[in-house]
Amino acid sequence: MKEGKRPKGIYFDCNATTPLLSVAAQAAIATLHDRFANPSSAHWEGCRAQRLRESARSRAAGVLGVDLTEIIFTSGATESAHTAIFSALSPFARQVRSGQRLDRRVVLYGATEHKVVPEALFHWIEHLGLPFEARAIPVSAEGQYQLSFLRRELADCVLVCTMAVNNETGVIQNLDAVAGVMASSRERPLWLVDAVQGLGKIPLRFAEWGVDYAAFSGHKVYAPKGVGLLYVRQGAPFQPLLVGGGQESGRRSGTEALPALAGLSAVLGEWLKEDANDPSGAFRSASELAHIREQLSAALLHSFPQLVFNAPFEASVPTTINFSVPGIESTDLLLLFEGHGIFLSAGSACQSEKSRPSHVLEAMGVSPERLRSAVRLSFGAATSFAEVEEGCRRIRGLGAALRAGVSSTARVVCVSDGQQNCFLFLSEEAERCDALLIGRCAHADWRVAQVVAARNAVVGGSCADLHSESEQMRVGLQLTCGNWVATRVAQDALQLTHLSAPTIPVLVFKNVEALLRHSSADLETASSPTVLLLESWAGLERRWSLPFVANRLPQFPVATSGEGCDTDQVQEQDLELSFDQIGRQAPEACVVDVRERSECSPSSPYLVAEKHFGRPAQHQPLSEFICFLLRKLNEDPGRAQTFVFVCRSGGRSALAARVLRDFGWHNAFSLRGGLSCLSLASEQPPL
Ligand code: PLP
Repeated sequence: MKEGKRPKGIYFDCNATTPLLSVAAQAAIATLHDRFANPSSAHWEGCRAQRLRESARSRAAGVLGVDLTEIIFTSGATESAHTAIFSALSPFARQVRSGQRLDRRVVLYGATEHKVVPEALFHWIEHLGLPFEARAIPVSAEGQYQLSFLRRELADCVLVCTMAVNNETGVIQNLDAVAGVMASSRERPLWLVDAVQGLGKIPLRFAEWGVDYAAFSGHKVYAPKGVGLLYVRQGAPFQPLLVGGGQESGRRSGTEALPALAGLSAVLGEWLKEDANDPSGAFRSASELAHIREQLSAALLHSFPQLVFNAPFEASVPTTINFSVPGIESTDLLLLFEGHGIFLSAGSACQSEKSRPSHVLEAMGVSPERLRSAVRLSFGAATSFAEVEEGCRRIRGLGAALRAGVSSTARVVCVSDGQQNCFLFLSEEAERCDALLIGRCAHADWRVAQVVAARNAVVGGSCADLHSESEQMRVGLQLTCGNWVATRVAQDALQLTHLSAPTIPVLVFKNVEALLRHSSADLETASSPTVLLLESWAGLERRWSLPFVANRLPQFPVATSGEGCDTDQVQEQDLELSFDQIGRQAPEACVVDVRERSECSPSSPYLVAEKHFGRPAQHQPLSEFICFLLRKLNEDPGRAQTFVFVCRSGGRSALAARVLRDFGWHNAFSLRGGLSCLSLASEQPPL
């Protein structure tokens, strides 16, 4: 932030939430200590608390240019939006109950709205038993509402829900134009504006536009979490969502979260006194913010020349940059940025955990390829120049890190796009290496190309489709590439051998069905153990979603049955251990960091693990895990070694530990929650 000390990580996810402005933190802490009284209490202390609340109200009214009575404090924008929608729809529910006919039966919401709006609409339509249909207002390629659609639908409409600024793209909606269309309708519907991302960024003229309700959130504007605002135009229908103690003049019961409210009040106070030209103020001016966007976008283009921006800069707030790097999946991009201490997100914070493509970009007609690689960088009005400079420096280093990340000497690299795997088998020559490509990973071809380029390799052979019926792919056919020989042992299976080393056989199957078609008898003839690789793991249980399976077919748990066998469950129990448990149960274990090279700090990829465990850690990227497995199968036939796998958040390390268990290492563990938990516990920055 402009005013204070920053952590080492560069936080560019301000649309998800902002840090606290220090005046807000101070106000909240002072309130926790000194104004702990209940604002509804009649005594002196209660009155002091009440004064604080009312001062917050008058500041909010001042910032929004509305009347004091039009402001209601809530817990956040989700509650504000629900209250507004419940208020707008309740009168119609009463009409339905009293048997009246409803002339208008449509509610409209923008196709790019934050999920809270459509979800609240569906929820209240169903719970109030209304015969309403919720329709999405389509948007243009630039993310603007199609006003012709709005105009056409207005006659049947009772409520229109729009937003001021989009949380994923930063697109500023033309609310002047929406107001014009609304004014033209004979019987004007009610209008809710989700103004969460607009507050402090664009002028909001609710009275002039004729908006009935507007929702705001404290934690998006440098105030604490747990406080929000609802603007309700005088005379607009109102129905409290929460009833009880009668706070907020009976419009929102529940004892106020006064410390959070004090924090919000402090932020609003800063806005009210802010002089845009005062460099010592808490917030950057509009021209400074625009300049920051230019700096950041130049740095991004420097590292990723193929990068495309997903929203036009002229019609979006400068603090949000939504971009795609075609060919690189969003999740990979996020890990790459995070590995260099920059925190971004793939879209709305609520959606990012579900890893679905953005409905906002989909509505704008963004191509599937760009959708898959979309990322949001968002900074705030209080982001400091020092942070931006450091962010730009790190971003400029990303391109090089991406290239360096694939320059390993691994003999086998697995490239995966989450559904399909393909495997590059590489010979050892430094000068000109031969590569054999098995399988095809449509969405991650860029990575295959990168590995090939970084190793100066020539793809001498490729089996892109194991199901191919072509003559070229006859059973028995051999493809040789450097020291690798791929023999087609069945229509859907290849056996790989490496000529220069007495290796464990590797069999590559199209998918799990192909694997099961080869009865255990077939596989028993192969020496045990055999490493089985899968090109596609669709249909496998989540816990098997790694391309490797051990040669232990009789116990192999097939996903379609939905049941793993008991022994697996027993095995699972102690697979993920906390840091303390590791200290007790596996104090001497070999620590293996399975993060990819490009995710790690260029100076020392093992640093975090080493610092915490107090001993050297091996780095074994998951994409090269087959090499590790083949090596260990040779080196440790008695399966005596103990391993602790670690990664960022514990998912990939658990997969690595499972694979080793399946191959007989009973002492393979994973650090539960990953290194990020350790960093948190000891207040360490991520680098
Ligand atoms: N609307 C928009 C545009 C948002 O960005 C968010 C938060 O992500 C919300 C609503 C929900 O806000 P809150 O977290 O205060 O409930």
